[in-house]
Amino acid sequence: MKVKDKNFVSYLSEEEIQKATKRLASQLNKDYKETKPLFIAILNGSFMFASDLFKEIKLECEISFIKLSSYDEMSSTGNVLELIGLNENVFHRDVVIIEDIVDTGNTMKNVLEQFKDRGVKSVEVVSLLIKPEALANDVEVKYVGFEIPNKFVVGYGLDYDGFGRNTKAIYQLKS
Ligand code: 5GP
Repeated sequence: MKVKDKNFVSYLSEEEIQKATKRLASQLNKDYKETKPLFIAILNGSFMFASDLFKEIKLECEISFIKLSSYDEMSSTGNVLELIGLNENVFHRDVVIIEDIVDTGNTMKNVLEQFKDRGVKSVEVVSLLIKPEALANDVEVKYVGFEIPNKFVVGYGLDYDGFGRNTKAIYQLKS
């Protein structure tokens, strides 16, 4: 598959993705049985995964969608990402963050700290993909679909420069 100027090869099929999604949903259905969790999907990349995952969640729960943006000015603690569109009060809530991919973990570390600062009861991450070789932070991703090598992937919501999101499978950059 060609996206803009780059070539990609098949990596994860629709069937593999759906199977992993169902496995993750059944773990979440079990672990959050006694709670009313608030799922927070991080846009844009996770929109397909969040949709498929959420259809398999059988709990009494809510979902909300946020975008991340970098503040212009640097704070003393470094560059804090702004959580755009978070209207829910997350205080004392069991929050599950839905992400498409965790690479270095910088993004997730930042986001997790912000949820903890807001006084959540608990916060966990469900990520379809994780690149263990690239992970540079001490970030716990409790629910992982696939551990993948440190190569760029597109499809199923993930983009290359805005394009390539609209597929049912995931593709890897051709080396
Ligand atoms: P991190 O902060 O963990 O390094 O990076 C997280 C973000 O980088 C992801 O949410 C995603 O937007 C982007 N990213 C990292 N690796 C890939 C990849 O292989 N493909 C795509 N499309 N985006 C990636």
